[in-house]
Amino acid sequence: MSSLRFKVVDEAFNRKADPVEIPAERPEKYYGKYVFNRQKMFEYLPAKTYEALCNAIDNKEPLPREVADEVAEGMKRWAIENGARHYTHWFQPLTETTAEKHDAFIDHDGKGGVVENFTGKLLVQQEPDASSFPNGGIRNTFEARGYSAWDISSPAFILGNTLCIPTIFISYTGESLDYKTPLLRALNSVDRAATAVVRLFDPEVNHVKSYLGWEQEYFLVDESLYSARPDLMLTGRTLMGHESAKNQQLEDHYFGAIPSRVEAFMLDLEIECHKLGIPAKTRHNEVAPNQFELAPIFEETNLANDHNLLLMSLMAEVASRHHFRVLLHEKPFAGINGSGKHNNWSLGTDTGTMLFSPGKTSKDNLQFITFVVNVMAAVYRHNGLIKASIMSATNAHRLGANEAPPAIISIFTGTQLANILSRIATSSTDDLIDLNDKEEINLNLSQIPEIMIDATDRNRTSPFAFIGNRFEFRALGASANCASPMIAINTAVSEQLTLFKEAVDKRLAQGQPLRTALLEEIRTLILESEPIHFDGNGYSDEWKAEAARRGLDCETSVPAIFDSYLAPASIKMFTEAGVFSKVELEARNEVKWEMYTKKVQIEARVLGDLALNHIIPVAMRYQSMLLDNVLKIKSVFTANKADSLIQSDMEAIEAIAFHINSIRNDVKDMVNARKVANRIPAEREKAVAYHDTVVPVMDVIRDHIDHLEQMIDNEMWPLPKYRELLFIR
Ligand code: ADP
Ligand code: MG
Repeated sequence: MSSLRFKVVDEAFNRKADPVEIPAERPEKYYGKYVFNRQKMFEYLPAKTYEALCNAIDNKEPLPREVADEVAEGMKRWAIENGARHYTHWFQPLTETTAEKHDAFIDHDGKGGVVENFTGKLLVQQEPDASSFPNGGIRNTFEARGYSAWDISSPAFILGNTLCIPTIFISYTGESLDYKTPLLRALNSVDRAATAVVRLFDPEVNHVKSYLGWEQEYFLVDESLYSARPDLMLTGRTLMGHESAKNQQLEDHYFGAIPSRVEAFMLDLEIECHKLGIPAKTRHNEVAPNQFELAPIFEETNLANDHNLLLMSLMAEVASRHHFRVLLHEKPFAGINGSGKHNNWSLGTDTGTMLFSPGKTSKDNLQFITFVVNVMAAVYRHNGLIKASIMSATNAHRLGANEAPPAIISIFTGTQLANILSRIATSSTDDLIDLNDKEEINLNLSQIPEIMIDATDRNRTSPFAFIGNRFEFRALGASANCASPMIAINTAVSEQLTLFKEAVDKRLAQGQPLRTALLEEIRTLILESEPIHFDGNGYSDEWKAEAARRGLDCETSVPAIFDSYLAPASIKMFTEAGVFSKVELEARNEVKWEMYTKKVQIEARVLGDLALNHIIPVAMRYQSMLLDNVLKIKSVFTANKADSLIQSDMEAIEAIAFHINSIRNDVKDMVNARKVANRIPAEREKAVAYHDTVVPVMDVIRDHIDHLEQMIDNEMWPLPKYRELLFIR
């Protein structure tokens, strides 16, 4: 009866590792082969053009039109030599994937044939008719034009046979409709603000860069099994499925030996990454069965984020070569860990100083403390917003379980840094400064360099952890665009640094020495932002109560969490930094609420279909087998004897009937809840209604189905079970 299930399980379990085409050369030879990086620019562009382009990139200046034409010509030559036939502007609409529309290079030659052309105009700007991308009402369909414009700070690359040009995407009226535009604005903002502060220490600094090292977690599922699970195919997660008797209890998967089929996939993926200039470095098994991780070497945030998006599409493609499907959903399977995407984030100067790394001298350390404390203050002030920046319908399943940070933002510092901060907070400025030493700022913090180099105490339960030379933001979900938290964090820090600089300047104007001014302001910030500092167990219930007492944002409803974007403090911060206008913020929230509703709606429909068309029919068939059995027993045995023999059958029949009836009623309730919610015109209230009235019923339906799975004949069960989906051989 469930022959499909047995067929796909058989296929999956008998599959062997697919061969990988390993280049004859070492990675240094093919790394960046398909990237129009500086080396290619140098080779394919006239010397003057090369210089003008590098100059524009380095100084964030616009590219003159004549230069663009020459760049386009060189880029086309390189692309065609490497097999490209099309070009596309590659951008990041608010759908959380990338978008591309390919055009062939060809043009009429006027003699009935074609020539291959590519001009500066086509390279720099396009007007895709993009009315079908989410825009939160910014563009009406009658004004469907959007502009995509080349982001020269991220190099073009060739994917398959297509030259991809990373671009921003904005509306005809200038509002951003993507992730890249506000990210670039946020990076500029933090550059300006941080440079101003660093220059108090080192006047040689001209720019501060933001760095990102993401860690991409994912699940792999065999493609045959995947194709037999409509829920996985349509929603990215299993909407039902009883826990496997064995899953991650034995903790035998984390860092375990990588199955050979998976290793082949990983190697293939890494080779592709390296050809595309993605510095993939680390790979390992994650905690849950079939869960893995890939991490590159960190890069500047904008490029790192483009690389993450590119990686996510590469993964899907390479996986299919190996008869796998990649699941980037934050919680594909109940009962085992979900997937996140830790964002390791830091700031560094153009002179090579990493600002969250303790230094060798006490002056360096004062700078280090300045930056760390400002980050803490920024995250404290905007903790609700930073949580909103990683929240989504899918990530909501992961946060707050005992596997991922809670839906409360706090910062872990570790004991050493905590001790230093508390010492600064409780000592007088004079105690901390040796006033006799005018040459060197002699802050009694000499212990920092030795002790902080190796940050051994790690706290996995903290969403935002200081780990020696960077902060690790762990709340982001596996499928998300890193730009979202990177926009929020960099802008918040930029705002805080600006306030800090103003306060220090005021003290300097009053004649205070620099180090006194700095220490006084640092002390104020440490005391003010104390509530965000938490080194304890973030999974515990005591923390939830404590966090609420401290006034941290403890909201757990996704649609309500998005409200933080429209809080007066957020609007002020984003508009003053020039990252988002109020209109953009409002439009984006409309999109967020709409996306939330749509995702729940799709899941609810799939669940309803599966429950009524897959599960109930099978449950009834099994129930009728039991009924048959009862009748037969009754016809063979005496009444007394039969009564005792059929007792457990009767119980099973009743239990099945109970679940079937409940499922039918609950599906009805769920459909009704949807109908009511769908009539609500405002996106926010509609999303709230989906959250409050649709999601809870889905959980109940699932529970009934998972009970049935345990009762019904294994041979009849139609969907691959967890124990079959989760263990790649
Ligand atoms: P973990 O032990 O947290 O799993 P991984 O090695 O998997 O560590 O990933 C750490 C990530 O942090 C890598 O991408 C690494 O390049 C990045 N990273 C290291 N130092 C910095 C830094 N200063 N700024 C940003 N990212 C960094
Ligand atoms: Mg990590």
